Amino acid sequence: MTTDILQRLAASFSAAGRQLYLVGGSVRDELLGRPHQDIDLATDARPDETKHLVAEAGADAVFAVGERFGTIGALFGERKVEITTFRSETYTPRSRKPAVEFGSSLVGDLGRRDFTINAIARDLATGALIDPFGGRRDLAGRRIRAVGRPEERFDEDPLRMLRAVRLSAELGFAIEAATRAAVVAQAQRLRDISQERIGDELSRLLVAPHPAHGLRLLADLGLMREVLPEVLATRDMPEGGRRFKNVFDHTLQVVEKVPPDLDLRWAALLHDVGKPETIGWDDGQVHFRGHEVVGAAMAERLLTRLRFDRQRVERVARLVAMHLRPNSYEPEWTDGAVRRVIREAGDELDLLLALSRADVTSQRRGRVAAAEARVEALAQRCRELIERENVKALKSPLDGNDLMALFGRGPGPWIKPVKEHLLNLVIEGTLAQDERERAVELARAFVATQAAPATRTA
Ligand code: ATP
Ligand code: MG
Repeated sequence: MTTDILQRLAASFSAAGRQLYLVGGSVRDELLGRPHQDIDLATDARPDETKHLVAEAGADAVFAVGERFGTIGALFGERKVEITTFRSETYTPRSRKPAVEFGSSLVGDLGRRDFTINAIARDLATGALIDPFGGRRDLAGRRIRAVGRPEERFDEDPLRMLRAVRLSAELGFAIEAATRAAVVAQAQRLRDISQERIGDELSRLLVAPHPAHGLRLLADLGLMREVLPEVLATRDMPEGGRRFKNVFDHTLQVVEKVPPDLDLRWAALLHDVGKPETIGWDDGQVHFRGHEVVGAAMAERLLTRLRFDRQRVERVARLVAMHLRPNSYEPEWTDGAVRRVIREAGDELDLLLALSRADVTSQRRGRVAAAEARVEALAQRCRELIERENVKALKSPLDGNDLMALFGRGPGPWIKPVKEHLLNLVIEGTLAQDERERAVELARAFVATQAAPATRTA
């Protein structure tokens, strides 16, 4: 499929006397024998001509990705192809926007790329590899090394520092010493990078095969202080009284244990982020009372700062807020308690259960097995209830109109507590949804207690 697309593109470009190279991640991953999502190409053709040649190669759609950067995107079925005109960028130091100029040579273009392993090209006309910066040697040595002088390259675009760590988490490669030293020296420059680009890289790091390695690197190189100070605080907590397991180390284990779902990985990273603020001791015993509530609020602020969409922010915050619930499960829980977990977790129930399973990182096998059994028992009860009834759709037997008619009152804030009272009874299982007559009685009794509150004693 990919080969077929590349052959058609190669034919179309060479017929017009143009060069076409596979570049960047596509070549890197090809040499590593790992799959690569998009196809990255470079050419000496200008964007207008590229559009035309790509269409001739039979693309289903052709569009400008970043006209300013001279990138043309195309779809061949589901496959996305990006073709960029050779660039020679001149950066004004410390300005955010590089001035882009079209260059005329492939080597000039490769020299503008971030890391040697990303600066290899394959000529699609001949199949030859062009590797002016020793990318293949670094692939073999499993090293991430900046092209050229690392200080300059990070100064041009500080995001590259995060890219280095993200690539390390994806490939399991080390960062070469001089490149690493340049990151340490310039970590603060991440302040010049937009939160969106930072959030993007962090997400990619989190769903990579080695997220714990990446997160530890972020912390060790000084990047985490800039982008996730709240998480870094879990590493540097004071240990008073009894020792407790380092929260940062535990967090990394949980991130690694949960499946690579983006919301779940973010929730794993942030589930204990409220601990530094809530730490306390009772009789020499450490506790973190309310850390899930404080943590959920922190997660919400942090993810909003990184410009994630509302839905993601709310999902992750909900998972953080609820992360202790499944592990507190006991067989004595009523159906009502199980229904509440189902309803509050909403679409995130499976993620919540996965997070709870991963949250037990004890060294003791017995403890881990017991915790897994507990979560599994809750999962089983959830499944049974969901099979039997539509738990999420449970409603009060009487709606607002019913209640207004019953009490002869108009619309107002008095309705909500009555409906909630009846809904609670339904969730607890003491009132069926179709028991309207009992619901009427119960509503009357409830409203009577509301209307005549017992005299308060201070
Ligand atoms: P993946 O797609 O798996 O993340 P990739 O290496 O293809 O890996 P992209 O973001 O798709 O990453 O970028 C494509 C190529 O563009 C990179 O391989 C690299 O050569 C170059 N590149 C991307 N971002 C930068 C940057 N900030 N500075 C220099 N070169 C970059
Ligand atoms: Mg790519």
